[in-house]
Amino acid sequence: MDEQQSLPPHVLIFPLPLQGPVNSMFKLAQLLCFSGLHITLLLTENIHTRLVLHTDISSRFDQFPGFQIKTISDGLQEDHPREGSKFLEVFDSLRSKTKPLFKDMLTSGLLSSGKRRPVSCIIADGVLGFTCDVADEIGLPIFCVRTISPCCLWIFFCLPKLIESGEYPFKDDDLDEPITSVPGAEAFLRRRDLPGFCRSGDLQDSNIQLFKTEGQENSRAYGLILNTFEELDGLILNQMRTVCPNLYPIGPLHANLKNRLTEAKTSLRPSSNSLWAEDRSCIDWLNNQPLKSVIYVSFGSIATMTNEQLMEFWYGLVNSGQRFLWVIRPDSVAGEDWKNKIPADLAEGTKERGYIVGWAPQEEVLGHPAVGGFWTHCGWNSILESVYEGKPMICWPYFLDQQVNSRFVEAVWKLGLDMKDTCDREIVEKMVKDLMVVRKEEFLERANHMSKLAKNCLMEGGSSYSNFEHLVKDIKSLSD
Ligand code: UDP
Repeated sequence: MDEQQSLPPHVLIFPLPLQGPVNSMFKLAQLLCFSGLHITLLLTENIHTRLVLHTDISSRFDQFPGFQIKTISDGLQEDHPREGSKFLEVFDSLRSKTKPLFKDMLTSGLLSSGKRRPVSCIIADGVLGFTCDVADEIGLPIFCVRTISPCCLWIFFCLPKLIESGEYPFKDDDLDEPITSVPGAEAFLRRRDLPGFCRSGDLQDSNIQLFKTEGQENSRAYGLILNTFEELDGLILNQMRTVCPNLYPIGPLHANLKNRLTEAKTSLRPSSNSLWAEDRSCIDWLNNQPLKSVIYVSFGSIATMTNEQLMEFWYGLVNSGQRFLWVIRPDSVAGEDWKNKIPADLAEGTKERGYIVGWAPQEEVLGHPAVGGFWTHCGWNSILESVYEGKPMICWPYFLDQQVNSRFVEAVWKLGLDMKDTCDREIVEKMVKDLMVVRKEEFLERANHMSKLAKNCLMEGGSSYSNFEHLVKDIKSLSD
């Protein structure tokens, strides 16, 4: 056997350049590295610069043998905003400008060395369809990863069917009409639960165009890796297997990594992958609050709100009389400088029972005993983190998979309340009271049950544990 072939398989991992996907792909990269594979994590230069600014990534990764980070240009000017409505421009640029660089990188031999084989397998975000083209062209096996929820991914897979059946575009404005052409979800899916862009009714909408090909794109890969677990998403996973037989549900990824490191009694710790500076003072504040008394409020890394929405939310929270910890990022509120215009009654109520930070160590916050509930925008990472920690949720979905996630939280998993399409202080007040007081026991019981399932699936013999072992085995055999 030639000397390089005796080295471990070398996997190149390429995440979509957004906080959520970067978070989960980092965890996957560390997990695979910890299983003895060599890893190159490929980040866009922009994401790498932001990570270096706020985290200790380099020192943390030096501890994982066989791990290297490489960067690639996303083809955009440095001052391009890259977020919100501008994100589709990132996709276009990745497809046109990054694709040839990606191919060159893989064929140039620059990623290998005496101690590292050439790349033997690619794992890329399934939205980056061009990575499948490149893998085909150069004859490398590829696995796709989807970091959004399987329930939304399944809707994307079914978009062609929704269009063929005439269910989409909607024939009228009744958003409560049931959706029947998404197999497995007939009993609870309504028009309003489809991703927000479906409401435009425009078949030429760039999002519809982008996501309509999902099924075909992802089934081109050898397998599809998902951040979920069988016990949570079995209903949808079984449907999805009809299109992609090689599914690897290995989540919740954040906890999977922590568990493996703890189990092996190593001193290695997962790295922080935060694109913002964490304000840890909120942990001191939580330390002084009673058990399960605080509702944690965070709408993730992308969602924004108007000044009016901010006021409705804030009055609702203060009027609920419950303690709250709220993440308001510097760019959360579109437009006005809200900090200079806080009404006196809100300032007073917040001083008594609330705490606001610009960015929190969320996993730690959700694991804190003082936190009794989570008001979330339903980003998939946030949901899994909350499920794992057994915290019931109020859902205010913002975009993409969040509309359907919030429906699943309320109607399928029964882990909380769906607030979609409303923004009213009285509704906020009522839902916060329902979650934290009136229906507290009922929701906590469900959340504890699901949390136990999430924890068990990561134990030896559990579903995600075994699926992960299977993934490593398949990567090894495809790399031979
Ligand atoms: N997050 C965090 N601190 C915050 C808010 C969010 O660390 O103050 C993390 C959170 O733990 C999650 C990620 O940011 O892992 C957000 O991902 P998600 O999929 O929930 O939403 P997105 O930001 O992609 O909309």
